[in-house]
Amino acid sequence: MNLASFAELAVRLVNSAVCEADADPLRSQESFREFVADCPFLAVQVTPADLGRLRLLRTDLAAVFTRAVEGSDQGVADRLNALLMIHPVHPVLVTHDDEPLHLHLSEAGSVTDRYAATTVASLSILVGQLGVHRLGICAIASCNRVYIDGSSNKSRRYCAEHSLARLNVTALPQRRADFTAEQSRSVTSAIS
Ligand SMILES: [Zn+2]
Ligand SMILES: [Zn+2]
Repeated sequence: MNLASFAELAVRLVNSAVCEADADPLRSQESFREFVADCPFLAVQVTPADLGRLRLLRTDLAAVFTRAVEGSDQGVADRLNALLMIHPVHPVLVTHDDEPLHLHLSEAGSVTDRYAATTVASLSILVGQLGVHRLGICAIASCNRVYIDGSSNKSRRYCAEHSLARLNVTALPQRRADFTAEQSRSVTSAIS
């Protein structure tokens, strides 16, 4: 399954807090739509209430990375377990295009529900499979951006921006999360 694409959506949201307030993608419905324009799964109505809830989610996800960097397995588990309770995934069995029955994420729910359920589930699966040390915060003191370490020798230390700046070849290839129903299916299959 493609863990990376969903977990990178968590990274994308947390790192969106780093910019100036007038560039924050959560500043307006329009700017948020641009922010997730490459994710068809998230191309649903966004309300001002969603923007507020996404800000809370952003803070909550950032705290998961902080606990991980502190090396606190229990801290990460507590944070993610609380989020899993608030943002459950809703798998549904579907069939389309002559495919056999398979699981998709439910199309019901607000954009916040969708963003939260997929990022929280994928981070939880990733931590469960690879450990909390795969979640990191950039080693540059003035930088609060987070990253997921996909390197084979767990050597990553910088966010995407500073990895590029340093030509750090150990970084994950920065793939933009590509949201398709099929990928939604892979998260739900992995956890069901
Ligand atoms: Zn950085
Ligand atoms: Zn399908």
